[in-house]
Amino acid sequence: MDLSSPQRWSREIFKRTWGLRRGRLLDNHAYSLWTNSMSSVWDELDAAPSLDGLRLPPFVLVGAGAVGNSLAYVLMCLEHPDAYPVLVDDDVYDTSNLNRCCLASHRDLEQEKTAVLASRLAGAGIASFPFSGDLKQFVNDARIGLRADVAEEFGDGLYRMVISCVDRGDGRQDIQGLRPHWLVGGSTLDLQAKTNVYAGDVDAACLGCHNPREVKGEAMRVLERQLRAMSQQERFSFLTEHGLDATSIEEYIQGSHCGHLGRAALLDFVCTPPPQFSVGFVSLGSGVLLAASIFRQLLSGMALPQRSGMTTFNFLNGNLGESALARDPQCQICSNLTVSPDPSLQTDTGLTQVG
Ligand SMILES: [Zn+2]
Repeated sequence: MDLSSPQRWSREIFKRTWGLRRGRLLDNHAYSLWTNSMSSVWDELDAAPSLDGLRLPPFVLVGAGAVGNSLAYVLMCLEHPDAYPVLVDDDVYDTSNLNRCCLASHRDLEQEKTAVLASRLAGAGIASFPFSGDLKQFVNDARIGLRADVAEEFGDGLYRMVISCVDRGDGRQDIQGLRPHWLVGGSTLDLQAKTNVYAGDVDAACLGCHNPREVKGEAMRVLERQLRAMSQQERFSFLTEHGLDATSIEEYIQGSHCGHLGRAALLDFVCTPPPQFSVGFVSLGSGVLLAASIFRQLLSGMALPQRSGMTTFNFLNGNLGESALARDPQCQICSNLTVSPDPSLQTDTGLTQVG
């Protein structure tokens, strides 16, 4: 992948003309996602084998947000019509998504993310199965319309390949709870795009590691105490300032029988992590790394044993590198495992019930 661009070169020329105030000049501008290496000379990099004839197994894509959009975009560009993504996400598009979701536009506002993504994929000749709901609902749903061979495997609790593009601890724990044979994830952190392979190695992190379930009960009780201590006018101001439905939440606080909507809104509020810096090209980078990780394994004919690991591209300094993520001894899923999970034994359909 050549990340050269006029903007990049103009930035470098600017730095060389005016001198560096901090940081360093960019040494490398060519990258191989086949070997995860970088160079200043494009021709020195290993060329990956051709993707012609490569077949993707059906897979579950959990999270149709920015990184999920980016992965779908890569599949569409590769003209991979035999792919069959099963799309799971319970969200709709709002204006805060549009700067990062590369396949969404203003006409998709308030539309289900999975339905929109399915329609974009269909435009490229790629069939998919969109499901608007969370993973627990998906597992328990009848999944009418799902391709028969895939439905049969899911019915047996067999998830061959699952891709995580979610950013909340609960969602990640639920995905790991499916015990998929092949689990990869894409994420962003500041200006870093990341992809992770979770192969079940004894010392390596699972997707549940470092992603504890949010403690909802206590946070909810604290927020309710704060709200009840306010006057009705103060409460109205606080709720509207935070973009919450003041009417339904007031009904809940007043003990109305119709207050379940208000309770759900409050619960969602306490579970939503604080806003974090995010920018579209980093999400796109994560989708590209994720696709490369999948294709690398497929091109090896699945003969190579999967190895857990993390690949990171840092847009801040142009570095591409691999690292390992150690297991979390407090992990609610893998902390009691002493051996790598045996894929042949992983046929249970249940999500993790921990937490
Ligand atoms: Zn774990």
